[in-house]
Amino acid sequence: MSAIHDDLDTRAAAVAGQVVHWRRHLHQYPELSNREVDTAAFITEHLKSLRLDEVRTGIAGHGVVGVLRGGEPGDRVVALRADIDALPVPDLCGVPFASHVVDQRYPGGPFPVSHACGHDCHTAMLLGAATVLAGVREKLPGTVLFVFQPAEEGPPVGEKGGARAMLAEGALDDPAPTMAFGFHVTPYPKGYIGYRVGNQFGASCLAKITITGQQVHGSTPWMGIDPMPAAGAIMTGIGQLYRQVSAFDPVTVSIGHIEDVGRFNIIGQTVTLWGTIRCALEHDMGEVRQRLRTLATNTAAAYNCSATVDFLQDVPALHNEQKWIDAGLPTFRRVAGDDRVVPTGATLGYDDVSEFVNRYGGLYVTLGVQDAQLDAVGMPVPVPGGRGLFMNHNPHFYADDDTLVTGVRLHAQVAYDHLTGTLTPKKTVPQ
Ligand SMILES: [Zn+2]
Ligand SMILES: [Zn+2]
Repeated sequence: MSAIHDDLDTRAAAVAGQVVHWRRHLHQYPELSNREVDTAAFITEHLKSLRLDEVRTGIAGHGVVGVLRGGEPGDRVVALRADIDALPVPDLCGVPFASHVVDQRYPGGPFPVSHACGHDCHTAMLLGAATVLAGVREKLPGTVLFVFQPAEEGPPVGEKGGARAMLAEGALDDPAPTMAFGFHVTPYPKGYIGYRVGNQFGASCLAKITITGQQVHGSTPWMGIDPMPAAGAIMTGIGQLYRQVSAFDPVTVSIGHIEDVGRFNIIGQTVTLWGTIRCALEHDMGEVRQRLRTLATNTAAAYNCSATVDFLQDVPALHNEQKWIDAGLPTFRRVAGDDRVVPTGATLGYDDVSEFVNRYGGLYVTLGVQDAQLDAVGMPVPVPGGRGLFMNHNPHFYADDDTLVTGVRLHAQVAYDHLTGTLTPKKTVPQ
């Protein structure tokens, strides 16, 4: 532990109260993917107050990138990323700063809006880290990019957005990162850092299946073509798709939304199934798509209907390389304590920060923020008398305010250690 690490921690402690304040404000006024207007303005205002070298705004919608060039010579560039969007989920987390926002105009809405994935925490913690690192800028040998990314949860269908759109707009071209870093708050014991070598998150894409029949009166189905039985048969078939994929690496196909255009006495022309495909391994995605397409089109044909299948919003798997984990563990242990840095299982969630990590190298970990403890086999269980254990996207999802300072320290120390060359993969020397 050097003097500068102590200094970073002291500065993180000093900004912790503000981080909680920012987080509560953001929590109370959440905005859905690609509509993060006020959130981006809030971020921009704070970054400008820090007198960063540059504050780039309006990237891929409402993305913001702050650029901090250190005062010491150095070529490394670390991109610290926070996602900033909220979800169409009611806020039942039971805090005084709960959201009452309803987005009346969002496609498919109106929707209640809340930070049920904790991106309010991510945003506030990265603002805290920007404050800390701006305070030691003269001692930084390299450049820090503070990347505030919109639309992580996926933009409305038909709109572009998210990490891939930021890259397409050249948001990280100059200077290009030598490391990308992100983390996610999770239902895990407070202050624990979880990591996984290999795929932390799976590959994902949105599947849209449109089944077309022929509209007719509900009393005379034989006079038209009813797409509803075909939809039911496709749903049943999806439940059996796993029989066609290796059981060793998980795959899920879930239909979360069915949209019809009929009425109780009208057989509608179309039924649309909206779902998501998740694959633990990237290379299974192509095969699962093909099987789903075959199932949908042939099942529809069996019912005298037709079906089209579209795959949208694909996000690659989040892959942590062993050499990066090896490089990062000393920093994680210094931040959280040796016994609070633990390997965790893979999940079939996704995070499109994979676009940054896969492209530039880097790391992605999780930060526990709930009243939990690990049981004998290392699974998180609720602490008696605590607020319980709630998954991200659950209306009751919550994050502990006091843990946010750990996230600020994590960002700041990862950034400093990368710029100084202690957190970077060892070069393999040819034998
Ligand atoms: Zn989420
Ligand atoms: Zn999230």
